[in-house]
Amino acid sequence: MGGFGDRMKNGSEPRTLYGIAASPGIVVGRILVLKRRTRRAGRYHLPPELVEQEVERFRRAAAQAERELVELRRALVRDIPDSLSIIDSHILMVKDRMILDRSVEIIRREQVNAEWALARALQRIKKQFGRIDDPYIKDRYEDVKYVADRVFGLLAGRETDPLADVDEGVIVVAHDFSPEDTLRMSSEKVLGFLTEKGGLTSHTAIVARSLSIPAVVGLEQVTQLCATGDTLILDGFSGRVYLNPTPDQVKQYREYARQHRAFSDEMAFYIHLSSETLDGMTVRLAANIEMPDELQSVLRYGAEGIGLFRSEFDYFHREQTPDEEMLYATYRELVSVLAPMPVTIRTLDVGGDKFVDKLPSAMVCPGQERNPALGLRSIRFSLREPSLLKTQFRAMLRASAHGRLRILLPLITSLSELQRIRSMLSRVMDELEQRRIAFDRNVEVGIMIEVPSAVIMADVLAGEVDFFSIGTNDLIQYSLAIDRSNQYVAHMYEPFHPAVLRMIRQTVEAGHARGIEVSICGEMAGDMISTPVLLGLGVDELSMRPSAIPYAKRLLRRSTSRQLAALARDVLGCRDGGEVRNLLTGYLPRHYPEEFGSL
Ligand code: PEP
Ligand code: MG
Repeated sequence: MGGFGDRMKNGSEPRTLYGIAASPGIVVGRILVLKRRTRRAGRYHLPPELVEQEVERFRRAAAQAERELVELRRALVRDIPDSLSIIDSHILMVKDRMILDRSVEIIRREQVNAEWALARALQRIKKQFGRIDDPYIKDRYEDVKYVADRVFGLLAGRETDPLADVDEGVIVVAHDFSPEDTLRMSSEKVLGFLTEKGGLTSHTAIVARSLSIPAVVGLEQVTQLCATGDTLILDGFSGRVYLNPTPDQVKQYREYARQHRAFSDEMAFYIHLSSETLDGMTVRLAANIEMPDELQSVLRYGAEGIGLFRSEFDYFHREQTPDEEMLYATYRELVSVLAPMPVTIRTLDVGGDKFVDKLPSAMVCPGQERNPALGLRSIRFSLREPSLLKTQFRAMLRASAHGRLRILLPLITSLSELQRIRSMLSRVMDELEQRRIAFDRNVEVGIMIEVPSAVIMADVLAGEVDFFSIGTNDLIQYSLAIDRSNQYVAHMYEPFHPAVLRMIRQTVEAGHARGIEVSICGEMAGDMISTPVLLGLGVDELSMRPSAIPYAKRLLRRSTSRQLAALARDVLGCRDGGEVRNLLTGYLPRHYPEEFGSL
């Protein structure tokens, strides 16, 4: 392991980074960057009489490495039996001829120092592994390297433990850890791990999971982007990392972390129970996700489908716009894994606060305008660049043959806009039919209700679609005229503004009058404080981050439909957001003492 990184290298700009969620949990804390260890072995020619001494020095270091591993294994045998096999394989490796005999052979033949010989042996092993295609086997080269590194360390003399001087919990950031490094960090000093290397099955990920330490891996260059002392939020559920977060983000994530800790024991119990009130009213609790990798969380937390798949991710951080085959593979995976549960895929929602790095050069780049929230965003961009939308439609329709796929159109503001999209969809369907490609002709099509005009026209729009999904994030932004990403007006962003609550009610009524389902998929749906209100307003589905689902389910199962409806009536009688919050501060602890006792 290396030393401390430089402080505040990149200023304190907030940044969101996306990695692979390797071990669940949320932590907020200061970071400790461990610099990459660069071992440069010099080459020294030895006089013949010193060669055997050098062999002996090497053997002693290897034997010491073995003893340390055996010792570590003994110390961990009770706590983490799952990870012992990794240490076992390293114990075998340190004795294996691949490292041991080869290095000795090189010392003798070339009359060189042990460090140089070990580096040469490692180079050869790397070449051999490089010829193998299997990624699992390729990954095992990392094990050989960890073991060799340990021997290197012993040859060079021990390094000090970088965590020794740390007196509070830190999030450790590094290029990579050996499993043993990870295990040694299983103290109260380490809140979480973040690495540049590694995937879900890397050792860091496996060990972090068995130690129940939240971790995100595969975040390229992260050690360059942050510095020791920076604050960071690590979300081991979604793989998201917020570097230098805003105070609001910190507050929100501390609350998520608190909820998670309080709940984790009970969760297993709730995920298998149905989502219904004490008197049998059912509400579908679905998941919002952005990447297929999150499917595991969808299943783990007992979601009853995907209420919102934000399809933008496939378009971010890529050299090329994804083609039909790529999108089809993603959508098909989601739909077939979750069948017969519904999977709601939203068409590309770029612009506004969502920027795409690379679009075909002839296309206008959304989000660059003076007023992007009111500009060429979302469905407007799709109408301007229909080729992208058609590709998505083709991929979605083909995937619809494998389960229950629902198409969701964002930011619809008028009937004519919706009709233009629907006729484009019909043409794509005709084309697929002509080519005899299988798809579900009755695939459900819904719209997001995100702007006041859609709420006001909801009775008309309801006649043209199969479901509504209320995007409260944008609905609040557009109805209260609050830019959702502007910190200066963030305090005015009020989900409980009666205008917002009335719009939700109006949308639900308009949808139900036409017999279609109404869902909510904005952040509000996963916020425990608003859950009873939204349930009382009569929604059919709440879609939220997967880890929030068990909480919502527990609330639902402790409620009756009458009680929820009465709450909604009272809330709708309030004259502003403050009144609603006061009402809830009294109501929630009374009805749900376990959840809200501390309010
Ligand atoms: C919303 O606006 O509420 C929503 C779910 O969409 P997004 O946050 O992706 O804009
Ligand atoms: Mg939106």
